[in-house]
Amino acid sequence: MSASLSNLLDDLRAKARAVGAVHGARVDALDETSGAREALSAVARAGLAAWCVPEAWGGAHAAGLCAPTSVSVRALCALRQELAWHSPMLDVMLVMQGLGSHAIALGGPEGLKREILPAVARGELVGAFALTEPDAGSSLAEVALRATRRGDSWVLDGAKTFISNCGIADAICVLARTSGEPGEPGGTTMFHVPGSARGLEARRFEVVSPHPIGEYRFHELVVPDAHRLGDVGAGTELALAVLARFRTSVAAAANGFARRALFESCGRLRARRQFGKPLASFQALRFDIAEMDVRLRAAELLVDEAARLVDEGGDAVAAVARAKYYSTESASWICDRAVQHFGGLGVKKGEVVEHLWRDVRALRIYEGTSEVQKLVLAKQILG
Ligand SMILES: Cc1cc2nc3c(=O)[nH]c(=O)nc-3n(C[C@H](O)[C@H](O)[C@H](O)COP(=O)(O)OP(=O)(O)OC[C@H]3O[C@@H](n4cnc5c(N)ncnc54)[C@H](O)[C@@H]3O)c2cc1C
Repeated sequence: MSASLSNLLDDLRAKARAVGAVHGARVDALDETSGAREALSAVARAGLAAWCVPEAWGGAHAAGLCAPTSVSVRALCALRQELAWHSPMLDVMLVMQGLGSHAIALGGPEGLKREILPAVARGELVGAFALTEPDAGSSLAEVALRATRRGDSWVLDGAKTFISNCGIADAICVLARTSGEPGEPGGTTMFHVPGSARGLEARRFEVVSPHPIGEYRFHELVVPDAHRLGDVGAGTELALAVLARFRTSVAAAANGFARRALFESCGRLRARRQFGKPLASFQALRFDIAEMDVRLRAAELLVDEAARLVDEGGDAVAAVARAKYYSTESASWICDRAVQHFGGLGVKKGEVVEHLWRDVRALRIYEGTSEVQKLVLAKQILG
């Protein structure tokens, strides 16, 4: 990588660190709606949300990193690793601006791109990406939310669940079934649905870490054909293309949680004395720190490789699956070791390592579980 690109990424890391240091603890302590809004406002004011939108439609100038119609995964990874170090809410509110709008960038009509994307880049509109349903998780072939053609419009009926930004999103990219039956591959199409649409009902629920999330019910919700994203029947391909661009950044966020956990462990092992000595002098714990460091560095190198391949348009399928699988699994292990190093304090509510242990858990599940990443990788290796 050239010196100027490397400087650009270092500059992004420094900006994210500054936002995290000022706003991280505060937004995580607020209720989820206020925390989410404040987090988005903080990342948008610092110009970071612009990195979630292609330059061609109001996003950041990413020359040298990726095409102007795309979003740089290297930039996203640099931002997410630093934000996650400080706050799961800052991290999720940043990335959702990209994940929740990229289907419009890839498949929306030009007018819709110009209407929605610059406002997403400025943090004025909140995005969401709605694939999962009560009976459709790892397998998108099961999608049952039905979109039925009626003249120049479509009528949507069904439910989506586990949708990040549920209830606060202004622009929702929804995967719906336009032909065939659930369980049959294909036959799906994506649509843009405004958060204020008539017939849309939002019900929030809580997960283990600060994260605005819930389920949407669609009751005879009318969407004009002008809000269709991509071709009829090409919804699953479009959804997978969005995931292919954003999945590596989940790995980077996991590494941010893990790097913080390693930092906290080192501090605790140096400071805490038992049996007349600092914990850091016991070989068993020193070996732990060495292993945490090696796993984290390996995960970061896998993220670097995958992010560069995606940005450069190379064949990144295996690299992305490796990075997502290994980083999220090893980060969970690293955060768990950090809890162990803190002893009883490690599970006391409010301790940093206690929340890191919870914050990292969902990353092994969303945007393709660890098992799904292994299926993808094995297919690349074995055919
Ligand atoms: C915090 C959070 C945020 C989320 N945000 C969003 C969002 O914004 N938008 C959205 O659409 N979804 C979102 N999701 C949903 C997420 O993408 C799904 O939870 C995920 O795809 C897994 O689907 P599932 O929960 O239905 O699990 P299932 O698909 O039911 O899987 C259950 C278990 O079985 C395993 N499994 C499934 N199939 C296989 C197989 N063939 N071989 C081996 N193992 C298998 C899985 O790996 C998993 O361990 C979010 C989830 C969480 C937790």
